[in-house]
Amino acid sequence: RAKKVARSNYQFYSVELDKDAEFKIEQESAIAKGIKNSEFIPYYQPVVNAQSFLLEKLEMLARWDHDGELAGPHQFIATAEEANLIGKVCEQLLQKAFRDFSSWLEKMPSLTLSVNISVLQLIEPEFIDIFLCSLKRFNVPPINVEIEITESSLVSNLDTMKQTLLDLKSHGIRVAIDDFGTGYSSLSYLKHLSFDTIKVDQKFVSDLTGNIDGGELAIVIVHMAQSLQVNCVAEGVETAEQARILADAGCHQLQGYYFSKPKSARAIDSIIEAGVSIVQSRTLL
Ligand code: C2E
Ligand code: MG
Ligand code: MG
Ligand code: MG
Repeated sequence: RAKKVARSNYQFYSVELDKDAEFKIEQESAIAKGIKNSEFIPYYQPVVNAQSFLLEKLEMLARWDHDGELAGPHQFIATAEEANLIGKVCEQLLQKAFRDFSSWLEKMPSLTLSVNISVLQLIEPEFIDIFLCSLKRFNVPPINVEIEITESSLVSNLDTMKQTLLDLKSHGIRVAIDDFGTGYSSLSYLKHLSFDTIKVDQKFVSDLTGNIDGGELAIVIVHMAQSLQVNCVAEGVETAEQARILADAGCHQLQGYYFSKPKSARAIDSIIEAGVSIVQSRTLL
C-alpha cells in the first residue's frame, strides 16, 4: 500500500513538473510574440516633493497588455530574463517611455524619469551606449533620467556594479538604490559607491505609525540618506500620516497610492496639461 502511495506521489510530481515546464515554454513564446506585437507598455507613477506635494519625477513601471489583461512585472520580468528576452522587452519599454517623456519635458523641463533596469541588462557591455543612443534619439537629456537598481542585485554584483555606477555618472545619468533596507548593504561600502538617491522600501513605510520614537527603520534610513548627502524617496506611501512623518523626518520625495497609482501615458498627459499643482487631489497637510 505504501508503495502504491509513493508511486502515485511520484507520478503526481512528474506531471506537475511537465506542466511547469510547459507553462514556461508557452509563457516564453507569448513574450516573444508580445515583443513583435508591441504589447509591452510603460505605466508611470508620480513622485512628489515631500513638502509641497508637487510632481517632480515619474517612475516608469512595466506592463504587458496581454490576453485582454494588463500584467504587472512580477508576471513576466523573471521569465523574460530566463528566456534572454529581457533586452528586447526593455528596449521596447524605453523607446516608448522616452518618446512620452520628451513631450512632457517640453512642458516641465525639470521633470525626472526613473526607470528600473535589471542587473542582467546593466552589466551588458553595450547597455550604456544603447541607452545613451535612445536618449539622444528622443532628445532627452541624460541628467533628467535616473536608473533604479535594487539594493539586493547591487550587493550580489558589487565589483562589476561599482564601475557601472561610475560609468553612468560620467554620462550624467543618475542612479537610485531601490528597495533600500532589504538587501543587507552596509554603510561602510555605500560610502564608496557613486549613487544619487536612496528609495526606502515600502515595507518600512507601512511599519510607520502615529506614535513614533525615531527608532522606526524608515526614519533611520531617511537620516542615513541625509548623512550620506543623497536624495531620499519613500515608496509605498498610502496614508496622510505616513506622508507627514516622512516629510518631518526630512525625506525629500514621496511616492505611493496616497498620491497616485501608476497611470497610463494618456493619464499623465492630462495631469501635465492641466498643470503640475493638481497632480494629486491632496492638499498640504
Ligand atoms: P519597485 O521599483 O519597487 O516599484 C514599486 C512597486 O510598488 C510597483 O509595483 C508599484 O505599483 C507598487 N506601489 C507603488 N505605490 C504603492 C503603494 O502605495 N502601496 C502598494 N502596496 N504598492 C505600491 P509594480 O509596478 O508591480 O512593480 C514591481 C517591481 O517590478 C518594481 O518594484 C520593479 O522592481 C520591477 N519593475 C517594474 N518595471 C520594470 C522594468 O521595466 N524592468 C525591470 N527590470 N523591472 C521592473
Ligand atoms: Mg523602482
Ligand atoms: Mg522599490
Ligand atoms: Mg519593490
